[in-house]
Amino acid sequence: MNEELQKLAYKAHSKKRDFKDAADKIRKLKPARADELFHQLHEQAFAEINCLECANCCKQLGPRLTNSDIRRLSSQLKMKTSDFTAQYLNLDEDHDYVFRNMPCPFLLPDNYCMVYSSRPKACKDYPHTDQKNIKSIINACIKNTETCPAVFYIFENL
Ligand code: SF4
Ligand code: SF4
Repeated sequence: MNEELQKLAYKAHSKKRDFKDAADKIRKLKPARADELFHQLHEQAFAEINCLECANCCKQLGPRLTNSDIRRLSSQLKMKTSDFTAQYLNLDEDHDYVFRNMPCPFLLPDNYCMVYSSRPKACKDYPHTDQKNIKSIINACIKNTETCPAVFYIFENL
């Protein structure tokens, strides 16, 4: 992990008060305005930040996998879903399937995803900063400033 990523959780923690204040301002906006603002900052963040130089979410978080994700991944890997589940997955405390080990078993050394075209929906959607009704997930976004430099960028620029 590069030095900047190592410091991210600490930096995000030290700015938590500012980020909570920014979230309070977002809560006061109309939903469409909040979504528009996040969309603009999301585009700006990912114009500056290259996920292939990061992959922090694939190393630290990992997705929850739906049954549809499991079927799609098993098919790509030409495995039975039961074998795929036994080899790669565990149930977490909420009874959701998650990868047994992190970093993700499909993360390659150059930060590419080995199963990119079949990756779980949660991987496609992360960090969720371009989704509708951003106000409904604003607390999760604050938490993600500790892991994702793009979300940190967005909160610094709100
Ligand atoms: S943590 Fe954020 S910036 Fe890093 S790879 Fe994931 S989505 Fe991209
Ligand atoms: S499946 Fe791919 S995108 Fe999802 S965590 Fe693993 S390496 Fe990252």
